[in-house]
Amino acid sequence: YEQAKALIFSTYGEPKDVLSLHGHSISPAHSDNLTLRFLASPINPADINQVQGVYPSKPSFTRALGTAAPAAVAGNEGVAEVLSAGSGAKTVAKGDWVIAKAPGFGTWRTHAQTPEAAVMRIDDKAGLTALQVGTVGVNPCTAYRMLTDYVDVRDGGWFVQNGANSGVGRAAIQLGHLWGLKSINVVRARPEGVEGLARELKDLGADVVVTDEELQDKGFAERVKEWTNGGREKVRLGLNCVGGKPATAMARVLSPEAHMVTYGAMSKQPVMLPAGLLIFKNIHFDGFWVSKWAERNPAEKKRTVEDVLSLTRKGLFKDAPVLEVPWSFETNQEVLVEAVQGTLEGFRKGKGVFVF
Ligand code: NDP
Repeated sequence: YEQAKALIFSTYGEPKDVLSLHGHSISPAHSDNLTLRFLASPINPADINQVQGVYPSKPSFTRALGTAAPAAVAGNEGVAEVLSAGSGAKTVAKGDWVIAKAPGFGTWRTHAQTPEAAVMRIDDKAGLTALQVGTVGVNPCTAYRMLTDYVDVRDGGWFVQNGANSGVGRAAIQLGHLWGLKSINVVRARPEGVEGLARELKDLGADVVVTDEELQDKGFAERVKEWTNGGREKVRLGLNCVGGKPATAMARVLSPEAHMVTYGAMSKQPVMLPAGLLIFKNIHFDGFWVSKWAERNPAEKKRTVEDVLSLTRKGLFKDAPVLEVPWSFETNQEVLVEAVQGTLEGFRKGKGVFVF
């Protein structure tokens, strides 16, 4: 039997109000079940939204962990090591690393028991850290698909994105650069200025880094013209993480027939589109949700994950900065819940990741 702990919730609300640390034990794995020990699980914005009850993918609330009220384990992404496998498990064996196939797995826990069908084996973990594998399935996959599924990367040219400092944004900068795309990257202005941040993003391969304030300046279109060789190089794609004014301003930068893909709503403001962009420039507005995409394209998800991991192994893809939150058997609830709640603040040095 394994002694396990999990961050669970029984009702929706603010993480600090509804999350609690629950101890339980896990019986030995039988049939096609696996006993997992988590290694690294990130705290993604969507996880918070899920705890708040405002995310479309809802976890299932059960008494499986011996709780008084039906409860769900929070967290949707992470990497785990297989501690033991039932005799019916065919694709996964002791010692393997696995990631969840679908959201709702509940990854903020030390251990889990799961049917093998719920997880995807990492075929080659050599040279990779748990942090790298534990954060590959959501942000890099999202950036990867958005850069490749809406335009033909072989056409080259530019893409523009807001939220460029996010995990997705940093992944898009690197992948785009590797694939020969140039990028205009919009970040939020901050009190200390953005020089340091701009340098960091340029080191990853960003061509231009500007603030949301510069983006909304009257002369911005002229600057874009300069960067793009008088407009001869097309801006074929926009990636919208933020919504509100930075989204509208970004749409104005796009070349005719371009796609703007919305994947986040960090400002919580609606996306407003000038009709002229639809009528006269025929800009296409799309939305992307990696969960739905992975559900529809499981084989492609595996290939995408493996492709990013192989770039990581070669040193061509750098993981986004993280704030490690160590989680041992002794770690108390307050520390863990505080790490989750703290994610809601902006201007952070990195994404919180539970490291077990
Ligand atoms: P991170 O946790 O890595 O970073 C959060 C980013 O959001 C930071 O760059 C931060 O900017 C920015 N931000 C925070 N608050 C605001 C605000 N009020 N206005 C503008 N920007 C803000 O984020 P992820 O990369 O994990 O996720 C980014 C977004 O993408 C989230 O909305 C997430 O839900 C979404 N997402 C969607 C996916 C999909 O499939 N549709 C998949 C993955 C993510 P700063 O650097 O200035 O602090």
